Amino acid sequence: MGDFLRLDQKLERGRLVRTVRAKQERQMLGINQVDFSCGFSRTFSFYSKARRTSRPRSDLQLLTNMEHFDVLIVGAGLSGIGAGARLKMECPNKTFAILEGRAALGGTWDLFRYPGIRSDSDMFTLGYRFRPWNDPKAIADGPSILEYIRETAKEFHLTEKIRYNHRVKKADWSTDEARWTIEAETDAGIVRFTCNFLYLCTGYYDYDKGYTPEFAGMNRFRGKIVHPQKWTEDIDYTDKKVVVIGSGATAVTLVPAMAKRAAHVTMLQRSPTYIVSRPSKDLIANFLRAALPNRAAYTISRWKNVLLGMVFYAVSRKKPAAMKWLIAKGIKKELGEEAVKDFTPSYNPWDQRLCLVPDSDLFTAIRDGKASIKTDQIETFTETGLQLKSGENLDADIIVTATGLVLKLMAGLDLVVDGKPVEMSKTLAYKGMMYSDVPNVASAFGYTNASWTLKCDLTAEYICRMLKYMDKNDFQIATPRVNDSSIEAEPVLDFNSGYVLRALDTLPRQGSKPPWKLHQNYVKDLSMLRYGRLDDGTMEFKSEKVKK
Ligand SMILES: Cc1cc2nc3c(=O)[nH]c(=O)nc-3n(C[C@H](O)[C@H](O)[C@H](O)COP(=O)(O)OP(=O)(O)OC[C@H]3O[C@@H](n4cnc5c(N)ncnc54)[C@H](O)[C@@H]3O)c2cc1C
Repeated sequence: MGDFLRLDQKLERGRLVRTVRAKQERQMLGINQVDFSCGFSRTFSFYSKARRTSRPRSDLQLLTNMEHFDVLIVGAGLSGIGAGARLKMECPNKTFAILEGRAALGGTWDLFRYPGIRSDSDMFTLGYRFRPWNDPKAIADGPSILEYIRETAKEFHLTEKIRYNHRVKKADWSTDEARWTIEAETDAGIVRFTCNFLYLCTGYYDYDKGYTPEFAGMNRFRGKIVHPQKWTEDIDYTDKKVVVIGSGATAVTLVPAMAKRAAHVTMLQRSPTYIVSRPSKDLIANFLRAALPNRAAYTISRWKNVLLGMVFYAVSRKKPAAMKWLIAKGIKKELGEEAVKDFTPSYNPWDQRLCLVPDSDLFTAIRDGKASIKTDQIETFTETGLQLKSGENLDADIIVTATGLVLKLMAGLDLVVDGKPVEMSKTLAYKGMMYSDVPNVASAFGYTNASWTLKCDLTAEYICRMLKYMDKNDFQIATPRVNDSSIEAEPVLDFNSGYVLRALDTLPRQGSKPPWKLHQNYVKDLSMLRYGRLDDGTMEFKSEKVKK
């Protein structure tokens, strides 16, 4: 009898432990979809009913223990970590978490592992305004940039805020509740959170795959074909013949880096790109750092590079012939008159992003005979390489398809506002960060003609300013509204790169006038975002009596 009693108590204890554990797990994860359908049928039937009858979600929330945050940031890349740091500095009382789809932070700078991976902007403008870049190299390699992002996350205690392996798929806004319900896919199933403000720092391209056009005969090739986005460290190109297809920033980075070990690297381009050399070390910045306090030196160097970049861009747009002449002069000096045709595109400078090479590394590899450029088109892949339209054959052991990215804005997630799916292509971008008729959501989208971070820093600052303003005035909802009938919709990017043109139909648009017009200009954005009015007649602030 005693044995039976002990066994019974043991079983009961086991059941209790399992129940408590399951409860803890559910609390940690929100509700797991698998659990909905088996163990929690009552919860599930309530959930379905709640959906059918639009019962206020706070009831549901009580039942499912969804975690709530004032702000949810999606993405722990350069801009997500910058946004987290900004929230810590400006809005220390706000609760927030960072949902990251991958198992690591750093985004672009963790994903891309191809030889030579580096920035083509200087780090005084690609770095955060609030955290000086101290490396003597202004054009930095990928690992150093990743380390800078990691150090920033550590310094601002953001590492504990990141939920890794949370791939956000859906965001559902309820005006009644003045909050978003976010669905994220995890290895354990779907997890839900709620937040008052959603800040998307998800970058601009598809992480799953890069863009590779369908070339004829690709499966005939007996060597290796690799897209730079899928580069792995075990790819050995020592003494191999390499062809890099493409002429963008990735191709011009790969060619000199691979040429150091490969037998020969050919950059095969369908059309040329403007390429300009720039010293990897910024002598003025390094002098200033030696002479002045660190932060002062960084601020001056940052402004110097912002202004130089703006002047260069403005001259390119206003006097394209002069800029073409100047770029061609640089090529002549590096490689001689003959080479100029391979570096002279049919479009004007800055119609597409201009490529920068540090310390003429690409030109040096070409001069040394380790690399060459071929302007031609692919007829077909063959067993041993490529047959070109001109009839020429290019032998290769490895072909790298540096043919671009697949543009994917706001991570392609489903946004639903009060039960109605949002069609992003029908929205207008407000100040380049929020979207018409979509409340309490912003996205970090950087410049195409300058460093990405310049705009993302300003956006994060603006969001914090707006959140503080809303708290002060007891507003819960901020929605940009198009209330001027003279505003016309225009393409959001005035840029004719392949990856932009391929996705233009799916992107939000910009308006013909501020605050719907994208400036692509740091100084104008600075004055609008740091000092401009928040209650500007376009942003509708509402004080909703939230149903509890
Ligand atoms: C090879 C390369 C070189 C570049 N060099 C420069 C340069 O020199 N200068 C410049 O200005 N720009 C450059 N860029 C652009 C670059 O992407 C930005 O500068 C910057 O790194 C983008 O940071 P981000 O945090 O906004 O986006 P990302 O770095 O793309 O990070 C986005 C993060 O969001 C996560 N995420 C995405 N979707 C979801 C989701 N649904 N759920 C959860 N998490 C999600 C991703 O996993 C990732 O961690 C370069 C881009 C590439 C690809």
